[in-house]
Amino acid sequence: EMDIDKVIEEIKFDDRGLVPAIVQDAETQKVLMLAYMNKESIRKTLEEREAWYFSRSRQKLWKKGETSGNIQKVKGFYYDCDKDSILLVVEQRGAACHTGEFSCFFNEVLKPGTGNGKADVLKELYSLLQDRKKNPIEGSYTNYLFEKGLDKILKKVGEETSEVIIGAKNKSKEELVYELSDLVYHVLVLMVNENVGIEDIRKELISRREK
Ligand code: AMP
Ligand code: ZN
Ligand code: ZN
Ligand code: ZN
Repeated sequence: EMDIDKVIEEIKFDDRGLVPAIVQDAETQKVLMLAYMNKESIRKTLEEREAWYFSRSRQKLWKKGETSGNIQKVKGFYYDCDKDSILLVVEQRGAACHTGEFSCFFNEVLKPGTGNGKADVLKELYSLLQDRKKNPIEGSYTNYLFEKGLDKILKKVGEETSEVIIGAKNKSKEELVYELSDLVYHVLVLMVNENVGIEDIRKELISRREK
């Protein structure tokens, strides 16, 4: 169904025969790296569904992970409006950066604020929990829960549910908000642990509208 020759024909390469590719992690939506592709690397990438690039420093075709083992399974491939750049959406094994960082973009100059009112607080917390699972932090309660595993997480969900019930019966909005927040946090930990995405819940809820 996919015509690789046609894709290669469509894309505009620079005078070195290269096109920049932005690489995004499918799970966290994080931008992982920027690399260059030539015709051959695009062909190999679409055939194998694993990312191949062209190394400008080594002047050769390069399969991501060939030495590190940190391969990228390609789940999405897009080119932009004027066909001079590519977006790869990948399932990253290990780290994308050769320094060992998950993303190459760890040199932080300015960081977008979180509490700007528009921010989707549930998605943000979900991403943070995914991040904790990937890069555990010493003394993190979230990592303690992930380490203990499903039974511990379920026990906490049960406990927090009881506390929500008590909060609601006490007719204290403040207490109820507090306990609901505890419950939401633990439900999100459960979701990350069981690989249930916010998107899965959204789809299910939307499908119920039609009923
Ligand atoms: P790898 O493809 O992960 O086996 O790494 C092989 C070599 O590719 C490294 O030694 C680097 O020279 C280069 N390399 C790997 N990942 C990156 C990256 N994200 N950005 C730039 N160069 C990279
Ligand atoms: Zn445009
Ligand atoms: Zn463009
Ligand atoms: Zn890097």
